Amino acid sequence: MRMKWRRGTVFALAALAAGARPALSATTDYRPLAREILAQMVTTDTTHAHGSTELAKAIAARALAAGYAPADVQVLAPADHPTKGNVVIRLRGKGLSKPLLVIGHLDVVEADPRNWSVAPFKLTEKDGYLYGRGTQDMKGDDALLLTEATRLKREGYRPDRDIIFAFTADEEAGGDANGMQWLLAHHRDLVDAGFSINQDGQGGQMRDGKLLFLGVETSEKLYVTFELETTDRGGHSSVPRPDNAIYQLVDGLKRIQGFTFPARTTATTRAFFKAYATTQAGQVRADMLRVAGGDLDAGAVKRLSADPELNATLRTTCVATVVHGGEGESALPQRARATIQCRLLPGETPQDVRATLAKVLDDPGIRMSMDGPIDPSPETRPSPAVLARYRAAAAGLYPDPLVIPDLEVGASDSVYTREAGLPSYVASTVFIDQDDHREHGRDERIRASAFNTGVTYVDRLVRAMSAKD
Ligand SMILES: [Zn+2]
Repeated sequence: MRMKWRRGTVFALAALAAGARPALSATTDYRPLAREILAQMVTTDTTHAHGSTELAKAIAARALAAGYAPADVQVLAPADHPTKGNVVIRLRGKGLSKPLLVIGHLDVVEADPRNWSVAPFKLTEKDGYLYGRGTQDMKGDDALLLTEATRLKREGYRPDRDIIFAFTADEEAGGDANGMQWLLAHHRDLVDAGFSINQDGQGGQMRDGKLLFLGVETSEKLYVTFELETTDRGGHSSVPRPDNAIYQLVDGLKRIQGFTFPARTTATTRAFFKAYATTQAGQVRADMLRVAGGDLDAGAVKRLSADPELNATLRTTCVATVVHGGEGESALPQRARATIQCRLLPGETPQDVRATLAKVLDDPGIRMSMDGPIDPSPETRPSPAVLARYRAAAAGLYPDPLVIPDLEVGASDSVYTREAGLPSYVASTVFIDQDDHREHGRDERIRASAFNTGVTYVDRLVRAMSAKD
């Protein structure tokens, strides 16, 4: 089913590109188009094994059909990774400010159909939700962005500045050709901009149909992984000795488990706590305001750290994620290894953390190595003007939206745009229930109503962000 549908459609789009564009007014309802695009995106498998080139080409065909000139629609892939395709679409503006770069990744993580209640690579509407791999991360956003790129072109909109839509490959861990990093390194002219907005992050957090806050990430923690290893001469398990490679490693892991990095704040996290405090009451509110003011009172920090998300916002964290040990049931272990995955606050270096872990392990017999390369992650100082544009875009759709600058405790491609010197803001355009995060999980879904509202929100957001400085 999948192959035939797609080939037919591409051909149809080529006919459209030949100028058969339907006449559309400014009041056209773009929700059906957005849904159609989302269905196409979810149905096109872009896990690492498949790559993103096929979807990039389908997106390019839609852009040409919308009226973009071929010179403004570029499909590009590294020569040594032809399946890891990216597509860059440029809407020409008046040149009153440096371009706006709008990014979204096309790849998704794997999904085993046996674990899902619906087919993961098909868009299924059920009980008011849209199910499918990537609906939350991040094909819902990609579909809204492509709909917006189509809409602006069809309406003949000429923004104050060029708008660059970049749909990229290989953001998810384990990729071998990250598209955003590659475009910045090899096609800087295509993506150079005054600042960037990325939809691969927090965004609007909802509860009972109400917008709690709109989280806009302006910095992210640094992703660093260490490997620990112990070795021993081994022997027969019937004659155990005090020395044991597994016990030695476990003792070290227990010391790491018992260690907490000191709390620290950054410009972003102080702004985060100050804004978030307005949604809280009592002791929590007082503690957040104290920390927002730069006072890391032990009691306040301890109480806030009881919440894992806030704990991850307040400090560098390291956690054991993988462990291997032993060669055989009846043999004393000769080698044991563990993976320690760390997320560093901006401003802390891998060398600092390595030295701290060595002190905590306090055992020269536990060898430590660091996985590389490390992508440095400078902070984007939250610009009130940009945050005000998020607020303006959400206002009218949600009463008095609270916009909160935030530290991404995970990771995104904005690590590359920031490193390249572009102030970068990360917030999803599909608002989701705060307790329904299903990124990378089973039965990933978004509310159909949130997706529909997103059509209007994205239109307001992209127009607001592309206004001159
Ligand atoms: Zn993502």
